[in-house]
Amino acid sequence: METKKLINEIERKYADRFREIDEIGEVNQEKVLDAFIECRISAGHFAPTTGYGYDDMGRDKLSQLFASVMRTEAAIASPHFASGTHTIACALFGLLRPGDEAVSLSGMPYDTLKNVIFGKGNGSLADFGIKFDTIPTVCGAFDKDEIARRLSSEKFALIYIQRSPGYERRKAYSVSDIKQIIKFVREYSDAPIAVDNCYGEFVETAEPTEVGADLVMGSLIKNPGGAIAPTGGYIAGKERLIKAAEARLTAPGVGAEIGSYEHTYRMFFQGLFLAPHIVAQARKGGLLFAAALEELGYTVFPPAADKTGDIVRVADFGDKNKMLAFCRAVQAASPVDACARPDPWAMPGYDDEVIMASGSFVQGSSIELSADAPVRPPYSLYIQGGMTYEHAKIALCRCLDSLNG
Ligand SMILES: *Cc1c(COP(=O)(O)O)cnc(C)c1O
Repeated sequence: METKKLINEIERKYADRFREIDEIGEVNQEKVLDAFIECRISAGHFAPTTGYGYDDMGRDKLSQLFASVMRTEAAIASPHFASGTHTIACALFGLLRPGDEAVSLSGMPYDTLKNVIFGKGNGSLADFGIKFDTIPTVCGAFDKDEIARRLSSEKFALIYIQRSPGYERRKAYSVSDIKQIIKFVREYSDAPIAVDNCYGEFVETAEPTEVGADLVMGSLIKNPGGAIAPTGGYIAGKERLIKAAEARLTAPGVGAEIGSYEHTYRMFFQGLFLAPHIVAQARKGGLLFAAALEELGYTVFPPAADKTGDIVRVADFGDKNKMLAFCRAVQAASPVDACARPDPWAMPGYDDEVIMASGSFVQGSSIELSADAPVRPPYSLYIQGGMTYEHAKIALCRCLDSLNG
């Protein structure tokens, strides 16, 4: 079938789903707008600072905004978080002490966090005598029996949930899933519950902190940066927990009292403001990719028809060369570095060779259209992002051509 026609049919077939995505975007846009109004954001807050950054209003206001949007007592949103991994590491090192034990209810944490948590001789949590248990999921669902057994027999200092699956094959947890498991956990433990919120922000009309999570953490080069924030991360949650994390971002005693940025903060504010819309664009692009690839006979996860809890779609190509060709076509249909050809490479923090297509304005930004894959059977390509639905459409046409070529 001609690709244009295929796209038209998909848009008709999934019209309700497309509309629902826009409606969620609208609710979240109002939530973010009202946070800006409530926090009395003005142009002066975008101003740069230098040195220690004492009285840096932009830093304080940006954090206040994230607290407002996430409905938490406090937050820290900062360009000084170098990545999502660094953000989550700051939270873990801030909250945990030698001898403590933490437990993940969602199985093994994201690949790059394995070094942070279990690394040997690299300054990991394990090096500091902090134990971190993982309770594997059962067919992607929380293992309630095992969770009950562990929580009733041991005292944990932190309970950890990862919303998006990373490279594991399960659906992202919905906020409702997270609400239910937190209610369940609270029958056994009052330990702080921290959620890795990467790729989940603004996909639903509530965030995990609105349903009982004590802390959320994420990256600003994903959803909440709105494809505009040039770097950074955020942690939002109970004030006591945020104070503990702040001490790791900078130093104990100074926490969020310091930290300057000699460039305008405008992109962080503007990015957050745009984020609900950008996330909706990315989700519509993801739905289009999923439906088109399904139509061509590939297995896509989650399937096009399913509700999704994050912005990632996984397509199984079952064939290394097809996957590589498709991934390279994503790169070739990108606004930046379209002429570069991605090749599989050993990446720091990952076990298998990884191929990544990211022709993004912000390096490595995966709220911009991007695709990546650990190179191993069934040659699954993780596709996410897209600042505009129009771009996703054009890129899809070209990617489908690559499968015939
Ligand atoms: C991206 C991601 C991370 C890590 O973020 P980086 O910015 O890549 O370091 C952690 N957890 C999940 C679920 C992610 O998707």
